[in-house]
Amino acid sequence: MIDDNPAQKIRLIMELRRQGISSTDVLSAIERVARDVFVPKTFRDRAYENIALPIASGQTISQPYIVAYMTQMLDLDKRRKVLEIGTGSGYQTAILARLCRRVYSVERYRNLLSAAEEAFKALKITNITARVGDGHKGWPEQAPFDRIIVTAAAEKIPPALLDQLADGGIMILPVGRDTTDQNILRVTKDMEGNVSEEVLLPVRFVPMVQGVAEEI
Ligand code: SAH
Repeated sequence: MIDDNPAQKIRLIMELRRQGISSTDVLSAIERVARDVFVPKTFRDRAYENIALPIASGQTISQPYIVAYMTQMLDLDKRRKVLEIGTGSGYQTAILARLCRRVYSVERYRNLLSAAEEAFKALKITNITARVGDGHKGWPEQAPFDRIIVTAAAEKIPPALLDQLADGGIMILPVGRDTTDQNILRVTKDMEGNVSEEVLLPVRFVPMVQGVAEEI
């Protein structure tokens, strides 16, 4: 089932290195997680190109560079409990799962969530818990989280997510009004609970939408 495309994969890893991804943990996670499993059949031959691709429900699987960059900025290790908003294809989720203790992931489309869960099963990944919901609310029953990653762009930092970030925690998320004005931010909370923000990188993400999706 899985076409491993070793030459294309090596080319992608070299490109990510050139673009500044220096974490060997992140690069080896990218090398080990088969992106073709998360990509629609018609685009499978392009799974190891450094580009975003369309998935169901008008959404996109993020560009490998952005996945690698956000993951590197999260500064993960095996003790960390991570909240992800915007499961989408599940590819970013699978990368996180290799590098942390457990990922809790929230998606507003049930069909995307089901497809992602099938991919996790096919790849025998067992440290992901995913559910349908509105990511603006986070996952209060499981809070606090050491790390939070959001893969859809909100107009501003959702207050519930900030509340659910642990002291000493890091949140990486795109924020902006529209695609001409979006940036990835790093939000950190120190051990006293003081919050600070840094602008990291201009990006284009699909918008973070209020509420659970009604239809496919
Ligand atoms: N990391 C994913 C990105 C998917 S695109 C991947 O690489 O495949 C962003 C996803 O965020 C979409 O699936 C979209 O449905 C979801 N999303 C948007 N607003 C949301 C919200 N309020 N709550 C949960 N998920 C949301």
